[in-house]
Amino acid sequence: MGNDFFNKDNIFYLFNFSYIGLSISLGIFLFIKKYKHARRIVQLLVGLYMLIYLGLICNENMQIEGFWYYLFTGVFEAATIHYAVAKIFGPLLFGRGWCGYACWTAMVLDFLPYKSPSQPRKKLGWIRYITFMVSLVFVASLFLAKVGNIERIMFWAFIVGNLAYYAVGIALAFAFKDNRAFCKYICPITVFLKPMSYFSVLRIKCDKDKCISCEKCKRVCPMNVDVTDNSRKRKNGTECILCMECVRNCPKDAL
Ligand code: SF4
Ligand code: SF4
Ligand code: SF4
Repeated sequence: MGNDFFNKDNIFYLFNFSYIGLSISLGIFLFIKKYKHARRIVQLLVGLYMLIYLGLICNENMQIEGFWYYLFTGVFEAATIHYAVAKIFGPLLFGRGWCGYACWTAMVLDFLPYKSPSQPRKKLGWIRYITFMVSLVFVASLFLAKVGNIERIMFWAFIVGNLAYYAVGIALAFAFKDNRAFCKYICPITVFLKPMSYFSVLRIKCDKDKCISCEKCKRVCPMNVDVTDNSRKRKNGTECILCMECVRNCPKDAL
């Protein structure tokens, strides 16, 4: 009698979650040691793993199109689990930690020179709903038109989609002098992330007794969050990526 637990899929998931768990643990250790680049190390370890190993080697389309694809086929694959954990139910617990510590698009954008935005936020957030709908319609039409070999198309969609995200993300970062412009206006995944992270258990709070209203936290925040307001309705509250820049820069340890 074979041991069902040690089948290929379970070993894959065990390895996958162990690797990500170890990367996050290393990040927490480095953060406790006050290592400046702790977040970037986790972002590179997890982001590269997902992009290169899961995406390019295992052919798992972890972009939003992959999520739609597996949803329509009804197959419970890595991309479905990934979306459920990192982007739909996980944010109830850890907000947009995905965006700060794992996303392979932001992993590249964070290398660009505009770490904190110098201009006010633009009213372009509506574009995310268009990219969201385009991704859904694209995959749905493949199924409706009964196109053959959708799996292969999804692999190429992953490559082309990623290249397009990088190209648009880099161009926007330079145009708006803001590394995270893509995240703020274009990324379709934020359609899931934003409402769920509104209820996040993990969030940065401000100790009003210590705060001297110097506004430094707001100046360094890459996502324009008003972190001194403790209410859930704080300005750009659902944009917080838990990067800890505000915490590291607060002169009064009020965050
Ligand atoms: S908003 Fe989108 S592109 Fe930006 S970090 Fe989050 S998932 Fe990645
Ligand atoms: S940086 Fe600290 S002290 Fe200054 S406004 Fe923000 S929370 Fe208050
Ligand atoms: S700087 Fe603070 S408020 Fe802004 S995204 Fe990072 S953790 Fe969130």
